[in-house]
Amino acid sequence: MKARTPLTFPRLARGYEYVEGWGMAHGAHARVLRPRDVEAVREALALARRERTTLALRGGGNSYGDASSADRGYVLEPTRLDRILSFDAHSGAAECQGGVTIEALWKHALPRGFWPKVVSGTMYPTLGGALAMNIHGKNQYAVGTIGEHVRELDLVLPSGELVTASRGHESELFHAAIGGFGMLGVVTRVVIETKRVHSGDVEVTAKSTRDLREALEWMESRRARYDYLVAWIDAFAGGAASGRGLVHAARHLAPGEDAAPERTLAVAHQELPRAILGVSKGEVWRALRLLNHAPGMRLLNAAKWTLGMHEEAQGPYRQSHAAFAFLLDYVPNWKWAYGRTEKRGLIQVQPFVPAARAHDTFQAILAESRAAGHVPYLAVLKRHRPDPFLLTHGLDGWSLALDYKVHPDTRADLWRLADRITRLTLAAGGRFYPAKDLVIGREDARRMWPAQALERFLALKRRVDPEGLLATDLSRRILDLSA
Ligand SMILES: Cc1cc2nc3c(=O)[nH]c(=O)nc-3n(C[C@H](O)[C@H](O)[C@H](O)COP(=O)(O)OP(=O)(O)OC[C@H]3O[C@@H](n4cnc5c(N)ncnc54)[C@H](O)[C@@H]3O)c2cc1C
Repeated sequence: MKARTPLTFPRLARGYEYVEGWGMAHGAHARVLRPRDVEAVREALALARRERTTLALRGGGNSYGDASSADRGYVLEPTRLDRILSFDAHSGAAECQGGVTIEALWKHALPRGFWPKVVSGTMYPTLGGALAMNIHGKNQYAVGTIGEHVRELDLVLPSGELVTASRGHESELFHAAIGGFGMLGVVTRVVIETKRVHSGDVEVTAKSTRDLREALEWMESRRARYDYLVAWIDAFAGGAASGRGLVHAARHLAPGEDAAPERTLAVAHQELPRAILGVSKGEVWRALRLLNHAPGMRLLNAAKWTLGMHEEAQGPYRQSHAAFAFLLDYVPNWKWAYGRTEKRGLIQVQPFVPAARAHDTFQAILAESRAAGHVPYLAVLKRHRPDPFLLTHGLDGWSLALDYKVHPDTRADLWRLADRITRLTLAAGGRFYPAKDLVIGREDARRMWPAQALERFLALKRRVDPEGLLATDLSRRILDLSA
């Protein structure tokens, strides 16, 4: 597997760019096409067909692993299709081109009194990329995945044909393309609903938890009360404290609760601070780099847990939507703290496990990680529910997103641990999320999705893309298209 950065790859063939996953642990060389309109998307598909090569779709490149890269061939990056075509000020429905980012959408919607119904922990994904992965937010248990709020989408099929799909028209394509990781066509337009909000702030409650059981029970019993629930977990803590953490629960404000909504709904109120503890945001990753080793991260996690108890004692507080939703965007390029040379970076492993098996499975995964000497530097717990999309990662249960440092010396050992985590998760009836994955294989993919759903998806793929024009390193790794 190639994993070099542009800084270390001197002999890049003419016309090729190095395209890497967000976690930097995987990358590949490809010719990148950036169409400005639907016609240029069609031309790109035709070009790849003429040259008998493949084409990988890529949005903002925020998937951690190999979902939007492909070794050789073309990468099609429709990020210039970035116009918001219309916004219904009454219903909050937005009609956007596929390259519009979540950031652009919320900045357009919020001053009009609306907020996207589902956002990821970063605001930089495009809607095309977000739909292709069917992203979830901290409110997935309550509102489902992003696809559940899409009214219709335009898909340019590998043949060049443009199909408008919705629940009522081309329903199978609609339910397969959402969550279909860019295998069936290019999303060039989407009509998506946003939610009416009465303030630019949410009210946040912090709860410090002694162990994983307490976090799960506290969150479970408050699902009806809060719009958002998410827990940070200190993966370094072992023994009776295994899984200790800090839950953040948030609710939207009711009309009248915010005395000055015109002020909080303004984009300026949402802007993330320019400096953190006096250090310019752009430089914070350098400081984090000094702590990017097991003892440093153990210290940082312990400090966060201690501060969490103080946060809880202070009681509920208000925070802007952007600050609550996009905490990880506070520190630009924080991933660079993991190293920026060949085969470094991070992988995220995010097992989704049915509710009844979540506690024991996550505890086993945390214990395996500690025993193997690969403790996740960041661990995040969320509650989920099933959704109607064909290749869904959603289920009635929980996910634990685990960030592991990748280093050339320990990479093979880390992959062995990841494989043990895969076994534990699948044995519990769990799944993985293609946006985060870099480790599972075809047999694992076959086990995690219902056989009938996978078969229907593959049949559709063969029908709309008989030549296998759309392919990524991820699809080659987890899908068997030969059958
Ligand atoms: C810091 C961070 C936090 C995150 N938090 C969350 C989270 O809370 N919840 C969550 O669900 N995800 C989360 N993610 C993952 C992220 O939301 C997804 O990976 C998302 O798909 C990225 O969108 P993108 O535009 O960057 O697409 P890419 O990552 O470039 O591509 C994603 C997939 O979409 C396909 N694709 C791209 N554009 C199109 C298109 N126009 N038409 C069809 N297919 C296309 C690609 O082939 C690929 O399979 C996070 C990522 C980061 C880096």
